Amino acid sequence: MSDLDQFRQTVSAWLEENCPPSQRTPITREEQVWAGKNKAFPSSDAKLWFERMRDKGWTVPEWPLELGGGGLDERQAKILKDEMKRLGCRTPLFDLGIWMLGPAVLEFGNDQQKQQHIPAIARGDVRWCQGYSEPGAGSDLASLQTRAEDKGDHFLVNGTKIWTTNADKADWIFCLVRTDPNAKKQEGISFLLIDMDDPGVSTTPIELISGESEFCQTFFDNVKVPKTNLVGELNKGWSVAKALLKHERKLMAEIGGDTPGPSFSPVQAALEYVGVDDNGKLKDVGLRDQLVRHEMAFRAIGLTHFRSFEERMNGVADNNVPLIMKYVGTEESKRKEEVLMAVLGHRALGWNDSEFNDDELLTNRGWLFSKALSIAGGTSEVQLNIIAKRVLGLPD
Ligand SMILES: Cc1cc2nc3c(=O)[nH]c(=O)nc-3n(C[C@H](O)[C@H](O)[C@H](O)COP(=O)(O)OP(=O)(O)OC[C@H]3O[C@@H](n4cnc5c(N)ncnc54)[C@H](O)[C@@H]3O)c2cc1C
Repeated sequence: MSDLDQFRQTVSAWLEENCPPSQRTPITREEQVWAGKNKAFPSSDAKLWFERMRDKGWTVPEWPLELGGGGLDERQAKILKDEMKRLGCRTPLFDLGIWMLGPAVLEFGNDQQKQQHIPAIARGDVRWCQGYSEPGAGSDLASLQTRAEDKGDHFLVNGTKIWTTNADKADWIFCLVRTDPNAKKQEGISFLLIDMDDPGVSTTPIELISGESEFCQTFFDNVKVPKTNLVGELNKGWSVAKALLKHERKLMAEIGGDTPGPSFSPVQAALEYVGVDDNGKLKDVGLRDQLVRHEMAFRAIGLTHFRSFEERMNGVADNNVPLIMKYVGTEESKRKEEVLMAVLGHRALGWNDSEFNDDELLTNRGWLFSKALSIAGGTSEVQLNIIAKRVLGLPD
C-alpha cells in the first residue's frame, strides 16, 4: 500500500471516529461556525467537531505545523477534503482569514505578522473581513481612494469601503489603501491590516433583497494604524491584492463542484418532491431535461477540478484554469438554484413559512443569494473580459 493510501485510511478512520453524526448532514447558513472572539456554536456537537479539527490543525490543513496548521502537503490535503466529502463531514470553521488573508500573509507577511495572525486564524480566534471595494471602485478596483498618510510611526487612514461582508461582526479587516496619490493607479496602493476596534472605524449595515443584512459600508475616520500592520512593501500592495484575489477566485470556483461537506442536490429534491413514474423516470419531462443538463455540467466541473489538480501535482499547471472555473462554477451554481426552484415549485415560494418552505432547504433565499456569486470576487462580465484577453489573446 502506498503512503498516500495509508494516509487515506488513517484519515478516514479518524473522521469516522471523531465527526459526530449530526455534523454529517447538509449544513444550513445558520449552522456555520464563523471564527471570531465572539464565536457562536449552533450545538455542542458543532463545538466538539470544531475543537477536534482545530487540535489536529485541520481547520487549515496545509499551513505549517509550527503556526497551528496541519502541515499536510497538497495531495494529503486533497485526500482529507475528499474523505470529508465522502463521509459528509461539515466544514468545521468558516472565515475569510482561512480562505484569503492567511495565504497572503504566509506569502508576503514578515515573521512578526505570521506569528501574530496565522495561529489566531487557525484557532478561529479572529474573524476577518475584506476591505477592497469602494463606492467608486468595484470592477475597477485600482481606482480606490481610501487614503493612508504616513505620519512617522503610523498611518492615518481616512475613507470608506463598501460591500464589506460581515464587517459588523469582524474583529479585523484587511484593506487596500492609497499611500501614494501621485503614482500610477496600481502603483500607489498598499495592503494594511486594521483592528475593527480601533477608534475611528465604524460600520453601517446595507439591507439586501433577501431581508438580511450581510453587507456593510465601513468608514475610516482618522484611524491610526501602526506601520507594523503593513503587509508587503509600501506602494506594492497591488501584488498582495492580486495574489489574494486568486485565492478568492479559487474558493468561488470550488462552489461549482468541489466544496467539502454534503449539499442538497436537485436530483435528490426531484426524487423526493416530484416523484417517478412506473418506469422509474422523473414524471416531468421538461424538468428531467433541466436536471440532466445541470448534473452533466456539475460533474464536468468536478472532473475539470480533478484534472487541474492532477496537472498541478505533475508540474504542468495551467494558471488560466482557476480564472475560467470561477466563471463556469459560479454560473452553474446559479443554474442549480434555478433548477431547485423549478423542482420545488410552490414549495419554494414561502419565506419564513414552514408550510411552504422546508427550513432545511431555504430555497428562495439560496436562489436570491446565488445571484451574488457571479458578482463577488470579480463579476462574470469582467471575468469574461480577462479570459478573452489573457487566455484567448483577443484584442481589447
Ligand atoms: C456576495 C458579495 C460579497 C462581497 N463581499 C465583499 C467584501 O467582503 N469586500 C469587498 O471589498 N467587496 C465585496 N464585494 C464587492 C464585489 O467585489 C464587487 O461587487 C465587484 O467587484 C463588482 O463591483 P461593483 O459592485 O462596484 O460593480 P461595478 O464594477 O460598478 O459593475 C457594475 C456592472 O458593470 C459591469 N462592468 C463593469 N466593468 C465592466 C467592463 N470593463 N466590461 C464589461 N462589464 C463591466 C459589471 O460586470 C457589472 O455588471 C462583494 C460582492 C458580493 C456580491
